[in-house]
Amino acid sequence: MKTFQELELEPKVLKAITELGFEETTPIQEKAIPIAMSGRDLIGQAQTGTGKTAAFGIPLINKIPTSEDRIVSLIMAPTRELAIQVAEEIGKLSRFKGLRSLPIYGGQDIGKQIRALKKRPQIIIGTPGRLLDHINRKTIRLDYVQNVILDEADEMLDMGFMDDITSILKLIPEERQTMLFSATMPPNIQKLAQQFLRNPEHVSVVPKQVSAPLINQAYIEVHERQKFEGLCRLIDMEAPELAIIFGRTKRRVDELSEALQKRGYSAEGLHGDLSQNQRDMVMRKFRDGSIDVLVATDVAARGLDVSGVTHVINFDLPQDPESYVHRIGRTGRAGKEGVAWTFVTPREIDHLHFIEKVTKHRIMKKPLPSVAEAMEGKQKIMAERILEVVQSDNYQEYKGLSIQLLEQYDSVHLVSAALKLLTGEQNEIDVQLTPEDPIRKKRKPEFRGGNRRYGGGGYGGNRGNKSGNNRGYRGDGRGGRNDRGDRGSRYAKSGSGNRYGASDSYSKESNYR
Ligand code: ADP
Ligand code: MG
Repeated sequence: MKTFQELELEPKVLKAITELGFEETTPIQEKAIPIAMSGRDLIGQAQTGTGKTAAFGIPLINKIPTSEDRIVSLIMAPTRELAIQVAEEIGKLSRFKGLRSLPIYGGQDIGKQIRALKKRPQIIIGTPGRLLDHINRKTIRLDYVQNVILDEADEMLDMGFMDDITSILKLIPEERQTMLFSATMPPNIQKLAQQFLRNPEHVSVVPKQVSAPLINQAYIEVHERQKFEGLCRLIDMEAPELAIIFGRTKRRVDELSEALQKRGYSAEGLHGDLSQNQRDMVMRKFRDGSIDVLVATDVAARGLDVSGVTHVINFDLPQDPESYVHRIGRTGRAGKEGVAWTFVTPREIDHLHFIEKVTKHRIMKKPLPSVAEAMEGKQKIMAERILEVVQSDNYQEYKGLSIQLLEQYDSVHLVSAALKLLTGEQNEIDVQLTPEDPIRKKRKPEFRGGNRRYGGGGYGGNRGNKSGNNRGYRGDGRGGRNDRGDRGSRYAKSGSGNRYGASDSYSKESNYR
């Protein structure tokens, strides 16, 4: 790996990199930065969390003169969350140089954005839909753009942004540098690159390991009907600090989070039907630990960058290996160990083996936790809490009675009784979830290619649904498009966010949001 000092960057940019704590380049940065600095077009492929933002951000910031007062760089990102994340990183990297960058996304007051645009940012980071709005209103002009970056291009196309992106690209002067970054390179990305990039240099970083070694993976075979009891026992046994539980559908997420609340767990659900405010609130609670179980759909969880998630539980098996890796990558961050549990119904075992095969990782079978194990887990947690209080030395006013009790009763009996009270009786509130169908076999890839391109039946039909929704949202301000984000793991865990070339061909129904 190269150090950043070897890259001949401006001292102010180098200083910002150092302040961010980056010591050496990541593999994609090592390859991409020199090419980006040379001005050539570039296609960069690397999994999530490998530092792609800095890979294009550093050369950009290095290049733009501080005196510039027009929009010279345009970065397109799929979602509001990602636009903000990229803007933050660009902001940090350009801190000492003093460039102006601005995120532009749907769902935010357009007037506010127009006012911010008057400050003459040089770098715009935007979601395609909202960018087009501004372009049409003439509040953003692209006449002077010299660098274009398509970030997370596969996600953008998955979200149906192809038309918006092409419209925007056609408005940018041809004399420019275009860079496309993507975790996967499905044919539609290649087509886009062919159309809009000029003689691009390809760089890719192929991960050696597909899932992070720090994540312990296990599965439990359960019948659909046993899943909820199994989940409660698992949570009790494992006592996660922060857990994300994945459900297949929005209905599932709603039912599951409600059921968990009924059983006394502090859980909330997250899916694409929630308003941005609701989502923000749930995320805030999860981040600050006021809830410790987050129930989410794949899509809702993609954008999440939360540290300290100790457990991922796949209540429903994900459809494709890509989602599996994405899901389990939510844990085991920042060098900490994470655990991923997956519930598999008997009819889904084959599918699990398929996931194992693609991820080249053996997932260990574990038995369903017993009631006794669940109880033990709960007690352990209580014991830990008690010891914390002991250590805090903040229980003077309880000592008098304790001494009296200890004079009359056996200490083991007393502590056991206290533990029993604290852990509470087993909460047996009956809960019924609507069963989900087992994961079905994937359709043949040959057919999908066609569907994808022409929006026919099958997969294409689903995509149709999805963009139908989006159009609906656009009517009320295009906010809806940006309610999902894709956020990879930290670089330290680069193995965890991998995707697979083949995976774009699996169906993603709008129901999954
Ligand atoms: P990607 O876009 O590839 O998914 P990001 O650009 O979001 O990944 O980077 C993931 C994380 O890694 C960010 O928190 C970023 O600050 C950090 N990062 C990027 N480059 C480096 C580096 N050279 N050294 C350490 N951390 C880095
Ligand atoms: Mg990125």
